[in-house]
Amino acid sequence: KEKSAAPVTKEELGRATWTFLHILAAQVQMLPRIYPCRECRDHFKEVLRANPVLTGSHAEFSQWLCHVHNVVNRSLAKPIFPCERVDARWGKLDCEQNACEIIGSTSIF
Ligand code: FAD
Repeated sequence: KEKSAAPVTKEELGRATWTFLHILAAQVQMLPRIYPCRECRDHFKEVLRANPVLTGSHAEFSQWLCHVHNVVNRSLAKPIFPCERVDARWGKLDCEQNACEIIGSTSIF
């Protein structure tokens, strides 16, 4: 079956980026500069201004990321994610026979 050659939609881009951010706890400060969707970038700049990043610990960072994702969810009228379930959703990878794992997931900082 051929791979799709259609342009990436705003929804696909967002879903992939949130997955990347939640799993790798990537540096979010760079997003407002490089994120390819201008509307999202401009909005996220405001969100970051009102919610400065918290990087004291892995737990603090993932809770902060959950919160800012929920700010975006709310503005798009999407369901709010329960932040106490972040580790259940993003703390492990679903790989066959534990063939992969998140490296250093307990001590990123
Ligand atoms: P997504 O919001 O992409 O979430 C993916 C998965 O993450 C969900 O299935 C759920 O399991 C999990 N999840 C959801 N909320 C949380 C949370 N709070 N904490 C942890 N896990 C969670 N789109 C626009 O139209 N306008 C914008 O201004 C805009 N700004 C964006 C800014 C950024 C930085 C990013 C990364 C995306 C932005 N998007 C924006 C895209 C939008 O947020 C969604 O990614 C897109 O609409 C697809 O939504 P989705 O329902 O598939 O779930």
